Amino acid sequence: MSETGLPLIPGEAAHIARDPLDPAFSFEEFYTRLRKRRTGIKRALLDQGLVSGVGNIYADEALWAAKLHFARPTDTMRRADALRLIESACDVMTRALAAGGTSFDSLYVNVNGASGYFSRSLNAYGREGEPCPRCAALGLSTLIRRDSFMNRSSYSCPVCQPRPRNGRW
Ligand SMILES: [Zn+2]
Repeated sequence: MSETGLPLIPGEAAHIARDPLDPAFSFEEFYTRLRKRRTGIKRALLDQGLVSGVGNIYADEALWAAKLHFARPTDTMRRADALRLIESACDVMTRALAAGGTSFDSLYVNVNGASGYFSRSLNAYGREGEPCPRCAALGLSTLIRRDSFMNRSSYSCPVCQPRPRNGRW
């Protein structure tokens, strides 16, 4: 077991990438592989072969925190962007675990029916038409937008997370 309480992935299971909270997670390996992809950053985040444990809600919250649009082409990701994104994902996942969940998505469902604790701490996910908290702190009244994405939804702030040219959905 790792310090996170999650089982470590045996070396043989190399096709399943590590969780960013796993002490053995290698940012350098993640970044090297990310740059070789020809896809959008959110698709990459949801790809268990690149990084595991990041679901749709985690991804939207991490992208919002890192100020990155979900369609940002992975091969244009600078090292600092990728590092900020992984740090944001770790922060979101740590908060979700602290709120009692084992996975973000199951927690969100549970929370909606129970205390609502974690859903209230979401900044982007599920908040279409509500003010972006970061913009609001700057006196701007930007509203969170929703886009269709992989048969689901992506929530983002049009100001904090501007749509990239040549974005990959
Ligand atoms: Zn914003």
